[in-house]
Amino acid sequence: MSRLVYINGQLVEHEKATIHVYDHGFLYGDGVFEGLRIYAGKVFKLREHLLRLFESAAHICLGIPLSLEELTHAVEHTAAANKRDDGYIRLIVTRGVGNLGLDPSSCSKPQVIIIVDGLSLYPKEMYEKGMEIVTASTIRNHPNALNPRIKSLNYLNNILAKLEAIRAGVPEALMLNHLGEIAECTADNIFLVSKGVLQTPHKNAGILEGITRATVLDLAREQRISIEETVLTRHDLYTAQECFLTGSGAEIIPVTKCDNRLIGSGIPGPVTLKLIQAFFKLVRS
Ligand code: PMP
Repeated sequence: MSRLVYINGQLVEHEKATIHVYDHGFLYGDGVFEGLRIYAGKVFKLREHLLRLFESAAHICLGIPLSLEELTHAVEHTAAANKRDDGYIRLIVTRGVGNLGLDPSSCSKPQVIIIVDGLSLYPKEMYEKGMEIVTASTIRNHPNALNPRIKSLNYLNNILAKLEAIRAGVPEALMLNHLGEIAECTADNIFLVSKGVLQTPHKNAGILEGITRATVLDLAREQRISIEETVLTRHDLYTAQECFLTGSGAEIIPVTKCDNRLIGSGIPGPVTLKLIQAFFKLVRS
């Protein structure tokens, strides 16, 4: 299957899709991105992802050279050109080429890149039986240092935690914030079910405000499941009946073990299964 990459308005074969080594996205991680899904030929929650991209860019004073409408068209056009019914889209805006100093004012042309590809993050079995995670010693970025609400090209904070997970022999790590509260995992938001209430850290807990998180909250409201966006600690996790993670890449994945402790009865619980079912009904509809 040919893979066409959009670079500043041009579609090029992926082997020929290159960026300049003086691009500040490459030199400093100076840029923003989004990860989106294509389901049944349609880009899922495109507007929500683009609005978050514009917010991330606004925070770092990066002017995206396309309007919301133009970017919508560019993403849809690139998705269609790649002829994928199901797939993953990586939309990147870098600061562009500048000199070797940090000052972004030497970068006159932000680069807009759209990659379309397949994605399968975790084995099918984990979606059915649940995944194991560990708490990382690396805390999530302090919001006054690099706010996790910016989806920036600098993911080292999360990569350090991911390395801890891999070294512990599990696929994902739980990250706490600077207050020791539960924030999120390295690329996913986290949900707990406790005494029938669906709980998730509030948006200022040092998390990326996930599009899948918002979708799951909407589905829970439709299903009349009580919701709490609140402060959560590891006590809440260790005593919860259910836990799952959400993300555009991971979708919804049950967590049945954390720090070598079973969560609930150690199998995906009824609220998790109900939300997974509702999610797949929505994305396939
Ligand atoms: N947190 C982090 C750190 C992420 O990188 C992501 C995206 N993979 C998420 C949460 C989930 O966000 P979304 O549902 O918008 O993909």
